[in-house]
Amino acid sequence: MFNRRQWLFSTGMLFGASRLSGAAQNTDQAGGGSESKSGKSAPLPLTEYEPKSMLHVHETHVAKCQFPCIDIHTHISFSKKAENGVQLAPEREYLGTPQECLAVMERKNIRAMVNLTGGFDAGLADAVSKYDKAFPSRFFTFAEPSYPRFKEQNYPQIQADAIAGAHRDGARGLKILKTLGLYLRENITSGTLVKIDDRRFDPMWDACAQVNIPVAIHISDPIAFFTPTDRFNERYEELNNHPDWSFHGHDFPSNAELIEARNRVFSRHPKTQFLVLHVGNFAEDLGNVSENLDRFPNMTVDIAARIGELGRQPRTARRFFEKYQDRILFGTDATLHGDEFPQQVFNDKLYEIYYRFLETGDEYFDYAPAKVPPQGRWKIYGVELPEPVLKKVYYENAVRLLHLT
Ligand SMILES: [Zn+2]
Repeated sequence: MFNRRQWLFSTGMLFGASRLSGAAQNTDQAGGGSESKSGKSAPLPLTEYEPKSMLHVHETHVAKCQFPCIDIHTHISFSKKAENGVQLAPEREYLGTPQECLAVMERKNIRAMVNLTGGFDAGLADAVSKYDKAFPSRFFTFAEPSYPRFKEQNYPQIQADAIAGAHRDGARGLKILKTLGLYLRENITSGTLVKIDDRRFDPMWDACAQVNIPVAIHISDPIAFFTPTDRFNERYEELNNHPDWSFHGHDFPSNAELIEARNRVFSRHPKTQFLVLHVGNFAEDLGNVSENLDRFPNMTVDIAARIGELGRQPRTARRFFEKYQDRILFGTDATLHGDEFPQQVFNDKLYEIYYRFLETGDEYFDYAPAKVPPQGRWKIYGVELPEPVLKKVYYENAVRLLHLT
């Protein structure tokens, strides 16, 4: 008679299980997964593990969003020159043509795309003329601060004036990348880090209120990026693939310090509208995001690149959507030809996943078009938002924030 262990072994099940548990503990070993001379299997490296779900659950294909959407968070252009995380050139590098964007927009029912990284000065004017002016109401471009001028004595005023100029050039908002707080330093690319609530930026925040444009602000990152890249880190693979995304150690502030500095800016500039990207930069803790939304009436959030977080806490997320339905905007972080980052690659599949997450009650599906979930090894569940909430999230809230008609 076989006992249970022998039976499992004969069917290969135990054999497979021991390979996998070994793999989980030996993630940094190269090769493996094959029989050695002794007949003992080497561990399967985590990088080669692609489990296929055996679950039979309902699958909905949502080809188009139920209501036309505005993607408030995309990247069509970048600075031609950057150093140590600081964009230095006004000239833009375009990741794709308007026609490429329009083809996807047509198929996926996207009314408009907001290009957050429009840069400054002549580069910004160029981006606005190539996209916004050439295809009115389909593209909106945001400006960015001129960090190369940061060392100039009169920078606070220069930057405030630049906002007025950007507005005249057609910018629909200001984008703050995590450059502020995590990359910009006293000597621009070297020296001590400049804090988010540095007083030299006060005139810039006020200038945005004066010309009535929102500030889309990205500070901080997933909380796992601030903890050691070790076997306890839930985003180990992602950080292992992109070691420069870790802000653990060195002279980096903690996630809490970044959020506190950001909040001081919000309270000092109540007339400025802040769209806090990536679910208020703390999608893992919707309690924290809710507290801040309650505290700051000038704060809204987008959901870009965070359906992986929202979708693994679908009940909490749904309550969050219902409570803050007037202050959550649809965004994806879509980057043209961003194939290296499947969670934000601009293509049909990405949008279909977002629509499925928002509109259906489907269970246990991928949050990104990738063989292995790129942000962490988990799957997501749809939040099945009611129509009035969907309308607000897809476009009504964006129409209000961008003053569209
Ligand atoms: Zn982004």
